[in-house]
Amino acid sequence: MELRCVIRGCVPKKILVYGANFGGEIEDARNYGWEVNEKVDFNWKKLLQKKTDEIIRLNGIYKRLLSNAGVKLYEGEGKIVGPNEVEMTQLDGTKLRYSAKHILIATGSRAQRPAIPGQELAITSDEALSLEDLPKRAVVFGGGYVAVEFASIWRGMGATVDLFFRKELPLRGFDDEMRAVVARNLEGRGINLHPRSNLIELTKTEEGIKIYTDHKEELLADVVLFATGRAPNTKRLNLEAVGIELDNAGAVKVDEYSRTNIPTIWAVGDVTNRMNLTPVALMEGTCFAKTVFAGQPTKPDYNHIPCAVFSIPPLSVVGLSEEQALEQANGDVLVFTSTFNPMKNTISGRQEKTVMKLVVDAETDKVLGASMSGPDAPEIMQGIAVALKCGATKQQFDSTVGIHPSAAEEFVTMRSVTRRVTAGGKPKTTNP
Ligand code: NDP
Repeated sequence: MELRCVIRGCVPKKILVYGANFGGEIEDARNYGWEVNEKVDFNWKKLLQKKTDEIIRLNGIYKRLLSNAGVKLYEGEGKIVGPNEVEMTQLDGTKLRYSAKHILIATGSRAQRPAIPGQELAITSDEALSLEDLPKRAVVFGGGYVAVEFASIWRGMGATVDLFFRKELPLRGFDDEMRAVVARNLEGRGINLHPRSNLIELTKTEEGIKIYTDHKEELLADVVLFATGRAPNTKRLNLEAVGIELDNAGAVKVDEYSRTNIPTIWAVGDVTNRMNLTPVALMEGTCFAKTVFAGQPTKPDYNHIPCAVFSIPPLSVVGLSEEQALEQANGDVLVFTSTFNPMKNTISGRQEKTVMKLVVDAETDKVLGASMSGPDAPEIMQGIAVALKCGATKQQFDSTVGIHPSAAEEFVTMRSVTRRVTAGGKPKTTNP
């Protein structure tokens, strides 16, 4: 088991996002009266060291938490050898067998690489978090979370970034209107977008890595990042030998309580490929503990799970997208949108709109979904998620007093319906 989110995931990524954000902040500061010298230098190695120190510190805290809770930690590679038995090859090569009443698989997922010639020249997010040097020219392949986040990080730090993805818009699965907003904002920050494009080959040249696309484009880069999704880590666990069922994607199949087809073996997190987010894995783990050890059978609740894409600026959402609402609602759906220039930009001069959106059930007035693209969106959306979880209606949003002046107050002042959409009156979920 590895504390992936802490070591090679959300936490180091967020530190890099903070670092990259200063690029834009320094630009914005000029019109606020800060005299910034023409040449502003960014020291990647310094940030990398600081990030590593912080990760080591956090890792120590997590290990202490485990040992204080009475957990014995064995480090090495494990596999399941029976319904109640695991075998571990420890770091010094010695093997250890361990029997238990219950076994929980929480081995996560690993980055996938498209099988194109020269694919070994590309890196994945694992290496991207610890690159020796900051790339001057970065190519990112993929249109999901990792792709837009790293494109934003490197661009914020001054690199030239080209983002290639195979659909019309990045971030499939999110609200289409918000995806378009993100694409616009990424471009506004200077990222070169290449929609409907695939990398087909990479070669090594003296000038850097040469990439070839299916549009006959050629480009040189210092770093090529494959951000093309992750696959569950089930291969080396010996699961077939024990008869644990996997789905077509290689994920461990579990029931609503996270139990596999072998009653003593359970699984949570990315290895089950349900909703691959760290807080969701934590929820699944908590429910497992309640079910198995506290005598309270508890199912994870996948409704109203907020999430954020830490692009610059970020996108954050909770509940249903407009497309999902149209598929699931019984009657009409009311859509409220607000597009505005954040107050900070009026002085800084940055040309970047914040966009907020509420999707409301016309009959019940319940807010079905909320989205925001703009600074602080994840911080704002966490509170909105509580409201949606409580079943808030639009009328309750409207009767909530705003915090002035803030961007967040727009969520409680969207009075006019932008459009009323009849379920079935619009194409069902599009997949551009
Ligand atoms: P995602 O599943 O989010 O996105 C994968 C992207 O790669 C999609 O755009 C997909 O395109 C594209 N893709 C997949 N295969 C190919 C291929 N063969 N050729 C071209 N494009 C391809 O994966 P990520 O790697 O971005 O993230 C992995 C996981 O980590 C996600 O499940 C996410 O939940 C999690 N994560 C969460 C974060 C957060 O909460 N902020 C941050 C980072 C990761 P298409 O859309 O066309 O299928």
